[in-house]
Amino acid sequence: MQDRQMSEEVRNDNPYSRLMALKRMGIVQNYQQIKEFTVLVVGVGGVGSVLCEMLTRCGIGKLIMYDYDKVELANMNRLFFTPQQVGLSKVEAAKQTLLNINPDVVIEAYNENITSGTGFNQLLERMQNGALKEGPVNLVLSCVDNYAARMTINSACNELDQVWMESGVSEDAMSAHIQLMIPGETACFACAVPVAVVENTEQQIKREGVCAASLPTTMGITAGFLAQNTLKYLLGFGQTTFLLGYNALADFFQNYAIMPNPECKDHNCLKRQKLNSEKLRLNKLQKRKE
Ligand code: ATP
Ligand code: ZN
Repeated sequence: MQDRQMSEEVRNDNPYSRLMALKRMGIVQNYQQIKEFTVLVVGVGGVGSVLCEMLTRCGIGKLIMYDYDKVELANMNRLFFTPQQVGLSKVEAAKQTLLNINPDVVIEAYNENITSGTGFNQLLERMQNGALKEGPVNLVLSCVDNYAARMTINSACNELDQVWMESGVSEDAMSAHIQLMIPGETACFACAVPVAVVENTEQQIKREGVCAASLPTTMGITAGFLAQNTLKYLLGFGQTTFLLGYNALADFFQNYAIMPNPECKDHNCLKRQKLNSEKLRLNKLQKRKE
């Protein structure tokens, strides 16, 4: 009897209980709006999977996930996936777990390489039309681990004028960053290429048989920062961080913004920069008139 009563309470409370985490914060008055947002996540590995779980537990409206890989036993030193899921595609395994946690979230899962021709076109299409009520998604989050995939997301977002956040954990797992990219307003990924790529260390470390270090701690922390910044950006509370750098050895944090590079190699970035300075100029004129 008591059991039945309890399960009825859980069922009746269903859509709201998952939003309690945000409600109890007090600061977020419009927490219910989270149900209306769609976030597209590329890379459901050490960072992306935990990020998706956090957004699912916060009651996000819709998640669109991309990853081309399968769950392996080697992934068990990270959070989220379980040994029973070995062999499944990461997106399919993630979809099952996330729907089990919160069946109210709409989930689309694509087991695709976003750098392939078909993968890229589909990504563009989903970015433009994937939102709950069709139209563009609210935010794109990059949780990939290589340069080519980041450049692909960058070029798609510059083309579509889509706001996105990038994340990365260093190969020794001792530093990490998250970065908000607003086309034309902040540096894009091609405006300021990271040091690891300039030194070509990423390719060396990614060669066959060499396993990059990875810690569930650093990856979990990074996913937490990314999810927090996503909530701030979508719900409009606090200050959305532009670039947050984390050094695990010293527990040192950097927080700054990078301006767009007027010599960026991405022509859509230059186009967005031009449009943005024109917008700023018109705003200034308008203010002077008032
Ligand atoms: P490791 O490289 O240490 O073996 P990993 O490959 O699981 O681990 P993570 O950093 O945990 O890497 O996660 C990055 C995720 O991004 C991976 O799941 C990977 O499959 C995904 N990814 C990378 N490039 C692409 C791409 N072009 N298209 C789709 N998914 C991608
Ligand atoms: Zn740029």
